[in-house]
Amino acid sequence: MTETTKQLPPEITDLVLSDAVFYVSHSGGKDSQAMYSMMASLIPHDQIVVIHASLGDVEWPGVIEHINSTISHELNIVKAEKTFLGMVERRGKWPSAQHRQCTSDLKRGPIEKFIRQDMKRRGGGIAVNCMGLRAAESSARAKRQPFRKKDSQSVTGRAVWEWFPIFTLSTPDVFEMIARAGQKPFWAYQQNERLSCVFCIMGSRNDLRHGAEQNPELYRRYVELERRIGHTMFMKGKQPVWIDEYIGIPVQIIEEAV
Ligand code: SF4
Repeated sequence: MTETTKQLPPEITDLVLSDAVFYVSHSGGKDSQAMYSMMASLIPHDQIVVIHASLGDVEWPGVIEHINSTISHELNIVKAEKTFLGMVERRGKWPSAQHRQCTSDLKRGPIEKFIRQDMKRRGGGIAVNCMGLRAAESSARAKRQPFRKKDSQSVTGRAVWEWFPIFTLSTPDVFEMIARAGQKPFWAYQQNERLSCVFCIMGSRNDLRHGAEQNPELYRRYVELERRIGHTMFMKGKQPVWIDEYIGIPVQIIEEAV
């Protein structure tokens, strides 16, 4: 055991010593960045694999370049066969906080598939699926178990665990960890609270407004899609509200400004 692995929880140290492969799900957001910097300092380099589930043209442009500039591993990019907006159009409705098909179909699914295939290529072993979830993000997240065996993904010869390495960190802790690594978070955090899809179904008005200002063409596509399917991403009280009315930015104003 090295001095660094001694700083890990004992159950994680056991996995390191058992040659487990730690798959880091990296969205490009601040939590992923802090998680990676922590893991890179504690876990042997060749036991880390970094994966980004790309959301294509609905994620912030430049995110992949940002990840590559802050990691010292190869970045594996996975993508679902369907796209976010294609999925919405086909279903005729947007995902919701309760039914997040976007996360399960476009992020979790492709990452789990990558892990299965990579483990198969390695001839089996132990996989640890690492995510930057934090208890402070929501009461639902606070109830999650930060370390557990994933029986549904484990088969003879392949054991899969799930671990949230920065589960107990606060938001200031996360920014501090990034700064301590000598890095900066993605530029959009100068105004954004969260990152990932430019227009997230759970995004704050502030983030959505900033997204619209910086990505007018993508914003227009969201506004048009809402009208076409007759279903809105957001509600005002119990009433559905179009995204442009919700954030108070008419599409024409954005288009005139560019
Ligand atoms: S960022 Fe938001 S909209 Fe995009 S996949 Fe995640 S939950 Fe869904």
